[in-house]
Amino acid sequence: MIYSDATASSHDEAELMEIELELGAHNYKPIDVVLSKGEGVWVWDSDGKRYLDCLSAYSAVNQGHCHPKIREALIEQSGKLTLTSRAFRNDQLALFYQEICALTNTSKVLPINSGAEAVESAIKAVRKWGYEVKGVPDGQAEIIVCRNNFHGRTLSIVSFSTDPTARRNFGPFVPGFKVIPFGDAEALDAAITPNTVGFLVEPIQGEAGVIIPPDGYLRAVREICSRHNVMLILDEIQTGLGRTGKLLAEEHEGIEADLTLVGKALSGGFYPISAVLSNSEVLGVLRPGEHGSTFGGNPLACAVARTAVRVLIEEGMIENAERMGAYFVERLKDIRNNLIREVRGRGLMVAVEFEPEAGGARAYCEALKNEGVLCKDTHVNTIRFAPPLVINRDDIDWAFERIAPILARSSPTT
Ligand SMILES: *Cc1c(COP(=O)(O)O)cnc(C)c1O
Repeated sequence: MIYSDATASSHDEAELMEIELELGAHNYKPIDVVLSKGEGVWVWDSDGKRYLDCLSAYSAVNQGHCHPKIREALIEQSGKLTLTSRAFRNDQLALFYQEICALTNTSKVLPINSGAEAVESAIKAVRKWGYEVKGVPDGQAEIIVCRNNFHGRTLSIVSFSTDPTARRNFGPFVPGFKVIPFGDAEALDAAITPNTVGFLVEPIQGEAGVIIPPDGYLRAVREICSRHNVMLILDEIQTGLGRTGKLLAEEHEGIEADLTLVGKALSGGFYPISAVLSNSEVLGVLRPGEHGSTFGGNPLACAVARTAVRVLIEEGMIENAERMGAYFVERLKDIRNNLIREVRGRGLMVAVEFEPEAGGARAYCEALKNEGVLCKDTHVNTIRFAPPLVINRDDIDWAFERIAPILARSSPTT
């Protein structure tokens, strides 16, 4: 049923869900909760019921929902200037470059909108670098990626996905990618050829279920890439900007990527903005007209991103992620249930993996939703917990009054 003259507030949740089902493409299967308000770690549904958000929009709202300072920046800038396109300059872009470079020790930035576009941009730049600087024969550039990767949804990205659901019937695919196991540095060494231009990898595989590679893996791949003159591209769209208890996850092993991709929390959830952060050699190959985006680097995005990054640092969110992440994992490890295979995490990027006999993690997420804790299953048997980085001990204790009894059940419905 559709009421053409009605506003959202006059619909109840069931009606809104029905309209979505009828009019929207079914490319998502959300948990059935219709949210209408958020503040910090909390969100509210349209009936006023409160939930603790343990997903943070896949780590896009690390700073917490509707952070007042980011909101202020958005409102202020939106009253001044929002979009000029890159045909002209704007007074926010240079300051965004300067601040993000100083913070991440970067020498060149390419601003763009979504995570997938940052990945696409890095692929294009690294290929071009391969031909123009490394001397790879035309059309032969190879990029190595890892099994169970998640880098986004565009055609070239799903071309190197190993998830059949992400690929089925979307071919023909883009060539030039080689897949190796994740966490295996020797496999990288063996896969590199003279035509290899880049190795694209997540420091921790997020969508695959918070898969943490063995200690020393990033250091080893850094050394291998340097030895073979291959660009190390770290996709930090999910792990970056404080999520793992460091500004960038590469810091856990004291390395620096050649290209680092950030997105998601770069705006604190207010606006789609992403960026390729690189050494000057790779992004230096791009010349006017060769790449771009109408909205990339717009003044509204830059003003929002500048504030979103500033509050992460000023308000101690990164250190808080480390401390609260350790506490969150400790509380999860206290739960006794033979159906839990593993609890793992780094900072506030945390997962519980169930044994297959548990019948999937989705039912646990549904039960948690009913108790006021929002989280999402990933790869069938795993629940990812990734609350905003502003969470405190009391919030976690509140959450575990609900999480502990549900995760202790031998079946989520008993
Ligand atoms: C979310 C994500 C992306 C894609 O970002 P979008 O903004 O959804 O395009 C890419 N890589 C990783 C690791 C991600 O988590």
